[in-house]
Amino acid sequence: MTKFFIAMLAVLLVSSCSFAGSIEIISLLDRTGENEPSLLIGASDEQISKYLPDGKLHSQILAFYVKFGNSAILFDAGLHDGHIAKELAKNGVRPEDVKVILITHLHPDHFGGLIDDEGKAEFPNAEVYISKPECDYWVNDVQNEAVIETLKQYDKHIHLFNFGDVVIEGVRAIETSGHTPGHVSYLVEHENEKLLVVGDIMHFPEIQMPVPDVAVRYDVDPAKAIQSRKFILDYASWKNIPIAGMHITPPGIMNVKKSGDGYEKF
Ligand SMILES: [Zn+2]
Repeated sequence: MTKFFIAMLAVLLVSSCSFAGSIEIISLLDRTGENEPSLLIGASDEQISKYLPDGKLHSQILAFYVKFGNSAILFDAGLHDGHIAKELAKNGVRPEDVKVILITHLHPDHFGGLIDDEGKAEFPNAEVYISKPECDYWVNDVQNEAVIETLKQYDKHIHLFNFGDVVIEGVRAIETSGHTPGHVSYLVEHENEKLLVVGDIMHFPEIQMPVPDVAVRYDVDPAKAIQSRKFILDYASWKNIPIAGMHITPPGIMNVKKSGDGYEKF
């Protein structure tokens, strides 16, 4: 039994806090919901009835507050209604305490919580890191108003990086584009312990783990999203690195291994 698995048992018993060795992970649940299987691309009727026995997709939105050494990082910010800020407060973290936010991609369930009810920065002392290709796509190509207005509130505190960069000490950005053009996963390394924060590498693990070729309608480039999913799950399986995903069943953290043509958690 790995240290991580022991920690996961503790999570179920006491709190939303778990550890990958020296890395502490606080899971912040924004909300859960249900979706229709018509959201999927490439799932057969047989696969739907096998993996979705009640005929529904079960969805969740999470963010993570990760602490290691002297660092504390908020990964994504949930939807725009302050729920993630409230979840942080339950864990003793005030908005002004958040100093570093790493964004996986600029969809509303990931950047929405960066602003408060009045449209101002929810985390006034935070430096916000976003991949340059992601920012270019939403700000210059699509000209998404919500993204532009939100990023304005952080002004000089927005930092852009490229795929493969060490974004801050101990955290490297890995290209996992496809769901969006600049989507990144983050590899956190501290004292020989590792964690992969994988963003939207999958949305419905109940079917996308056993059948990774299933995509979703909101993937900007479904074929590339499938490639990125397999790449990161292969890497996590091979290196035995726990993954934290924003749409994985709470607490949103698991170890994965290869199984048949797909993957399973363990
Ligand atoms: Zn998402």
